[in-house]
Amino acid sequence: MNRFSLFSIARKILAAAVFPENCVVCGAPGDGGPEGLPLCGRCFGKIQRPAPVNVRCGICGCQLISEKNLCMECRKRNPYAHLKRAYPLFSYQGWGRELLSAWKGGEKRSLSPLLAAILAEAAEEVFPGIPIVPVPPRPGKIREKGWDQVAELSALIEKRFRYPVLRLLRRTGAVQQKQLNREERLSNLKTAFRFCPPKRGSPVPDTALLLDDVITTGATLDACASVLAENGVAAVYGISLFYD
Ligand SMILES: [Zn+2]
Ligand SMILES: [Zn+2]
Repeated sequence: MNRFSLFSIARKILAAAVFPENCVVCGAPGDGGPEGLPLCGRCFGKIQRPAPVNVRCGICGCQLISEKNLCMECRKRNPYAHLKRAYPLFSYQGWGRELLSAWKGGEKRSLSPLLAAILAEAAEEVFPGIPIVPVPPRPGKIREKGWDQVAELSALIEKRFRYPVLRLLRRTGAVQQKQLNREERLSNLKTAFRFCPPKRGSPVPDTALLLDDVITTGATLDACASVLAENGVAAVYGISLFYD
């Protein structure tokens, strides 16, 4: 590490101690937070504890209240034709919304290593040994936001936690989803992803764990799962930070 980077790290630590940022979740005056993150101790604790698998729907992964095994929605209609199961860590309601908008907008990008750590730990626990396959960004996302959140999380998960990551999917130049109605979206989504075989002649894995930042309808994950399944991945699961 050169002198300049040591200096910039020291300056950041000092700035965090002297001018702690307010907590992005609850707005409480910052105490510098753990590791100088823009979080208070209470909110930091909440983010560390996603609900365990046994209190979640076995398909969409939402938290169950009075039901057993499957939520009411998934009992009526399985939202996934190709994906076996999704495990979104947190609900997008309440504090999740505050955290996500601060992080995704790039304003609090310093939260990425913490979010990557929580995802890596959950993946290890719930889907041990299953390689992560990042969902590629929709067209125009990098232009709008300036960065790809999923690519950043995947790179951190791979480098810091030595978790296997395979970049098996690319976006094709399909039309932007926003301009389409529901029917058109679904058929457009099927052609939106292209399979990229593993590098250096490695075999296609039997199982894969798709990673996205937020799951809303689940249609994106399912389209990705269908492309992977067509190319020889026998079982595809999904993990995300939030569900909406
Ligand atoms: Zn807080
Ligand atoms: Zn469900």
